[in-house]
Amino acid sequence: MSARLETLHRHLGETFFDPVEPARFPEHILRYRNRRAAETIGLDGLSDAQWINHFGRFQPFPGSFEQPLALRYHGHQFRVYNPDIGDGRGFLFAQIRDLADGRLLDMGTKGSGRTPYSRSGDGRLTLKGGVREVLATARLEALGVYTSKSLSLIETGEALERHDEPSPTRSAVLVRLSHSHIRIGSFQRLAVTEDRAGLERLIDYCCQHYYPEIIDDSVAGRALSLFCRITAESARLCAQWMVAGFVHGVLNTDNLNITGESFDYGPYRFLPIYEPGFTAAYFDETGLYAYGRQPEAVHWNLCRLAECLLGQVDRDALTDGLAIFDQVFEPALHDMFCRRLGLIGEGQNVAELIRAVFQYLHASKQQPDQFFHDWFGGVDSAERAMAGPDASLYQNPGFEPVQQALAGLEPHPAVAEALATDIMQNLRPVTLLYDEIEALWQRIAEDDDWSGFERRLAETEALRAAMAPFFADQLRPWPIGT
Ligand code: AMP
Ligand code: MG
Repeated sequence: MSARLETLHRHLGETFFDPVEPARFPEHILRYRNRRAAETIGLDGLSDAQWINHFGRFQPFPGSFEQPLALRYHGHQFRVYNPDIGDGRGFLFAQIRDLADGRLLDMGTKGSGRTPYSRSGDGRLTLKGGVREVLATARLEALGVYTSKSLSLIETGEALERHDEPSPTRSAVLVRLSHSHIRIGSFQRLAVTEDRAGLERLIDYCCQHYYPEIIDDSVAGRALSLFCRITAESARLCAQWMVAGFVHGVLNTDNLNITGESFDYGPYRFLPIYEPGFTAAYFDETGLYAYGRQPEAVHWNLCRLAECLLGQVDRDALTDGLAIFDQVFEPALHDMFCRRLGLIGEGQNVAELIRAVFQYLHASKQQPDQFFHDWFGGVDSAERAMAGPDASLYQNPGFEPVQQALAGLEPHPAVAEALATDIMQNLRPVTLLYDEIEALWQRIAEDDDWSGFERRLAETEALRAAMAPFFADQLRPWPIGT
């Protein structure tokens, strides 16, 4: 089927973006092409040369924007308001429909050149940063997290200087697919500049294209419903991160998408051990965005979004809307936890299991992915777990509460088939720990050896395929009582 390009963002009006010129790169070496994602948007038929022309040279697609758009936004960075940000090293290259569900997708870039928002930055992405983002999105998708997808990674032949990496370092340009690049910071810019008409246009745009179930004759009604939906989806995203053992690292208001879709992967890490204070970014000196503080961070950001809507919506109604966060987070956590373990359960039994597992993981310091791998399917997997590398941990008295809680839940009917796959039969899980990424990057940096990267992607894809039945029927949107 052929691609369905759109130019909807341009019709928001020219105060929402700046048309920009893409950088011209000395080289274009295709390093990653997401064939499965390309198929969903009707671009699987492109030759590699055509692919590079679009995603490395940014030749527009027929019917698309003539020029890419650097999006305007502000944001709270580590709780400090910054009105000088915006797309500083990326732009909206094109908008396109998902052919399966008809939803609107953005092709957004990272590392595509300087824009009016680059400040002192070079507008570039390091190849290592691109490799890290491709790996993160693949793994998060495999673990059922609602995430942007990496569509393309092209190495661009420049030498970049970075103060926090051995320099010079190699460059790349990434294209991601995401349901919007509208952030909480996009609303903040309009509120702070007192652009009421712009704010209401953005509210309507978000309702129309991302939450089409919102139908209300009044702006106040639409704005409130939108806020409630964003709150619910953001809470669910937090629950997904917690179950995936993911630390985003930079939960600034400009990095939170209004669709509740996770994106922008910089210094992220997956947990090596269960530790609520575990922090991903070296520059996060106070642990503001530590693993266990992610729900609080997202909630704080939603408070900032609520403030933007005070001109449209009654304060008390917004306060009630914020309460949706807590109403959704816990059931979403329960839901995701069961899905990741291939179990079916509800209420007290699940709450008991989660409490027991978190307590056990904290005390035992077991790598959490190994636990989820070993006990996928619950107590029926005991034999498999006891053949694994951490069997001795499961014989400790500290594991008993987990064992008991697992026994209270039923395996999902698809467990047997998933367990029969090679990836689930392995004694070790597919992981993506910081040191593993460093090691596979070293092989690329020293010998241009991409085999470690390719292998990790292939294993992650196998994990995704095995786990897909458990995440396939995730309800969208998350039901809320408004
Ligand atoms: P981030 O923390 O990656 O979300 O980036 C925050 C802001 O800094 C955004 O406006 C980015 O576009 C901008 N930025 C980050 N790195 C660069 C860079 N190398 N060149 C220009 N702008 C950048
Ligand atoms: Mg960002």
